[in-house]
Amino acid sequence: MSIGSRKFPIIIFQLILLFLLITPLVSCTFPTATRTNPFDYIPEEEADLKPDQERLFRKYKNNPYTKEIRIFQPKIRYFNQRRETVILNLFGTQKYLPLSQIQISERKSPRTFHWSGKSITDSPSYADIRFKNSEAITGQVQSRADIYDIRSITGGYSVLILKVEEPDDEFKIDEQSNNSSSSTFSSSPAKTHSSQSLKTDIVLPYIVEENILVAYTKEAITDEPYLIETLNDTFEDINKKIIPNSNLTLKLNPTIYEIKEDYIESGTIKEKLNYFRNENDGVLDEIHKARSESHSDIALLILNNAGGCGQAFTIGSTTPDTAFAVIDRSCARSYFTLIHEVAHLHGSRHNIERDPTETPFKYGHAYCERKNVVRTIVAKKCPDIVYTKIPYFSNPNVLYPPDTSSTQSRPRRPLGNITYADNVRVITESAQRISQYY
Ligand SMILES: [Zn+2]
Repeated sequence: MSIGSRKFPIIIFQLILLFLLITPLVSCTFPTATRTNPFDYIPEEEADLKPDQERLFRKYKNNPYTKEIRIFQPKIRYFNQRRETVILNLFGTQKYLPLSQIQISERKSPRTFHWSGKSITDSPSYADIRFKNSEAITGQVQSRADIYDIRSITGGYSVLILKVEEPDDEFKIDEQSNNSSSSTFSSSPAKTHSSQSLKTDIVLPYIVEENILVAYTKEAITDEPYLIETLNDTFEDINKKIIPNSNLTLKLNPTIYEIKEDYIESGTIKEKLNYFRNENDGVLDEIHKARSESHSDIALLILNNAGGCGQAFTIGSTTPDTAFAVIDRSCARSYFTLIHEVAHLHGSRHNIERDPTETPFKYGHAYCERKNVVRTIVAKKCPDIVYTKIPYFSNPNVLYPPDTSSTQSRPRRPLGNITYADNVRVITESAQRISQYY
């Protein structure tokens, strides 16, 4: 009896030891089947980066819009075949993101292609990654309100960046733009479009096209080697996702242009915007020739460090010399800042809770949809909690989630209202004028 009671704890101890030894083996076999992680994170101190890679890594790490960062080498085999799901092991609040592959496009080889997937559990979560020679050169992941950028630091290494919650952009020139444009705008709803845009499923007879000059500085491409690919993907998002989602009949044609002048970024965001916009001030004057040669209706400047996510010269451009905006490269795609500023130039305002101004369009605000806790592209902070930004403009005729959403349990609600939240109407009407600038 006394011997047995002494042995009993030993047996328990041995059983615990056995369990501890077996568990890692089990977790290697079973959970990996459901928790694939195509991003192989490498601790900073083990990454053995060359000086150029180290420089790029530091730039991304110290960027004001970076909350956390991980170095990784993608396991491209997970993306390269028709798998039902790819499960990303993210960091931050949403750890695992199961994605169903929706498209592999521009496949040049098994190592160079563009992969897109959307969440099987959680609209509007998705991932979009561009691979070149097995390197993840640029991409974007959204897991509910968490936004991640993927960027190359070259030589096979990439970084996954968890972005800070979207900072306030711009914009203290609202009063100025009111004064200059309210009288021109308030009574100019465009022809047939104003009535048609208030009805669902009417297909407008033609698509308005706008040409956009997208200039970038040498500093911007020095710190982001695949900036051009990022910008092209941004316009693909706009033309293939945001515009059709929103039921908008518009197409934006970018001309991407590298600034030749030895321009050193300095000053406030507003000063940079003025240098960009002003003719004959001796700074960035080449832009006007480039704009004219490319017949660009709108001119954008992508900066390495704008000093804010972006700023449009005005809310509601009425003349070609006002269709200018500057954008920080780190915000252009993942925060939707590029199209956000373009929407401002068309007269769109932030959500009415943030900006109750009724000019140039009373109905021209973005929208916070409270049931699904989502906000449209031009919305800034919505009341009380963090709303997930979705690739839509406010439109009372568009319901969210869309029909095809896998999350049918959620209520479908309009993404706007005709009284104060219809950015699609505003953009449709203004595009008639802006598309004629050049
Ligand atoms: Zn804004």
